[in-house]
Amino acid sequence: MANRYITRPRAAGTSPRQQAEWRARQRPIDLDAEQTHVLAYLEAVRAEPEWGPEAYNRIVRRLARTGHPVYGKARLHRAALALMHVGKVAHDEELLRRLRMKPVRTLSGVAPVTVLTKPYPCPGKCIFCPTDPLMPKSYLSNEPGAMRALMLGFDPYMQTAARLEAMQRTGHPTDKVELLILGGTWSSYRRDYQEWFVRRCFDAMNGVESATLEEAHRHNEEAPHRNVGLVIETRPDHITPDEVHWLRRLGVTRVQLGVQTLDDRLSALNQRGETVDDVRRAMRLLRGAGFKVAVHWMPNLLGATPQSDLEDFRRFWDDPALRPDEMKIYPTGLLRGTPLYEHYLRGEYRPYSETELIDLLAACKRLVPRYCRLNRVMRDIPAPDIAAGVTTSNLRQIVQQRLIADGTPCQCIRCREVRREVVDRQTIRLEALTYETDHSTEVFLSAVTPRDRLVGFLRLSLPHAPAPIEEVDGQAIIRQVQVYGPLVTLDEDGNGRAQHQGIGRWLIEQARRGAREAGFRRMAVIAAVGTRGYYRRLGFELGEWYMSTVL
Ligand code: SF4
Ligand SMILES: [Zn+2]
Repeated sequence: MANRYITRPRAAGTSPRQQAEWRARQRPIDLDAEQTHVLAYLEAVRAEPEWGPEAYNRIVRRLARTGHPVYGKARLHRAALALMHVGKVAHDEELLRRLRMKPVRTLSGVAPVTVLTKPYPCPGKCIFCPTDPLMPKSYLSNEPGAMRALMLGFDPYMQTAARLEAMQRTGHPTDKVELLILGGTWSSYRRDYQEWFVRRCFDAMNGVESATLEEAHRHNEEAPHRNVGLVIETRPDHITPDEVHWLRRLGVTRVQLGVQTLDDRLSALNQRGETVDDVRRAMRLLRGAGFKVAVHWMPNLLGATPQSDLEDFRRFWDDPALRPDEMKIYPTGLLRGTPLYEHYLRGEYRPYSETELIDLLAACKRLVPRYCRLNRVMRDIPAPDIAAGVTTSNLRQIVQQRLIADGTPCQCIRCREVRREVVDRQTIRLEALTYETDHSTEVFLSAVTPRDRLVGFLRLSLPHAPAPIEEVDGQAIIRQVQVYGPLVTLDEDGNGRAQHQGIGRWLIEQARRGAREAGFRRMAVIAAVGTRGYYRRLGFELGEWYMSTVL
């Protein structure tokens, strides 16, 4: 393949002297000559499902057999830090911890598979958004994951299969797969492409080829890699009743909405081409159809100040039409070649300082309610691509520490998930949090430990307005069931993990009761294709696009 696909590690500075110094510091491992080996090591370390005292030695033995050199843990740790510093490898706290400390158990049972759609123009003209001719709009070819997609020609089958294979090879569980389809605005791709793309991802999970999407979905119900979630990203103004039907047909369960701002003045200034009313309408349609809604929000757009950003962020929770389930905060990255960069050169734009940004993020985090998952607070843009502004990659940790020191730890789902804690089933209590949206009463049911750790949760929508999809009109809808802790197999055949196995069922029972008491006669669930068997066993039956049960 062409060499242009290979990015060499770049030093933080650009002068020859700085580069020489930088290289000298890396000495033990020559990153120019040995990068492939280092990356192979890092991938193997990252992919190891459980990290124990023997894990590193096993990796060394395995890699040495396939022709890689032997690296000590400390040297590799230094190399990993260097690659993260130049943006070649995404900052990964867990990876670093594995290389420097005692074992840490990772407890997520769902294998995330991220795939990218082909390069394609976006209808948006957002002034901050990078254009890389090799990439779908808004992605950079040296971003983590993007290069892999590029090398595989953006082929959905190959991307999915390669990820599954890599995870399997290293013993990572892959029986439950969440598929994340990234790239510009999904809804602006032709529908035949979308359908083909999703079908080919399913073909890879199924291990058999299907002639139609429906057939691929059916196969997945019994497939070795079952789809437990399908995520796409799109613009709010593309969400229409017709689009909502279409997404459901594809099997989508979660939608990431690029919102970026709730201030129409900023929206216009940054040429977003949409308004806060578009956002409200999109969220109403999506939530009404049972989707989980994740929004992207960008502080530090052109025309914003830390104060106006905090006000903007507050609107997400004060406005009943918004109140998203998940959120990603992407502080605007100032990238060369974007119209925003022109503003910067003319002195009309200023990136926030690190202190301003940390203060703002901490203040934002304090506002995040318990029903929302704050997925991240920084995008993995390789530092060398940022023309000016904050490039601190461990911003999240800094903000987190600040909140803990202040005695106001973040309340969001992500910060409360059980990780290493041993959970005694007897001590778990049910917590029900109710909040209103412009079309429903939302009930966030969670299973919580005495130390306020989340073992699992369920999102139940009790609508008081017509649903955008007739099939679920008048029904209560389970929008999400999530159980953390050691892997729960879909077959629930119980062997040693029994304490966690009942949680999903228990939450669904509670939802059933709550919906019945609220006067509903039927309850639907937006079941990912690979979870249909699970819900069947709980008495749900498959309709056209949802599974539902009589209450
Ligand atoms: S809509 Fe998204 S992908 Fe399209 S230009 Fe705007 S930010 Fe970029
Ligand atoms: Zn949090």
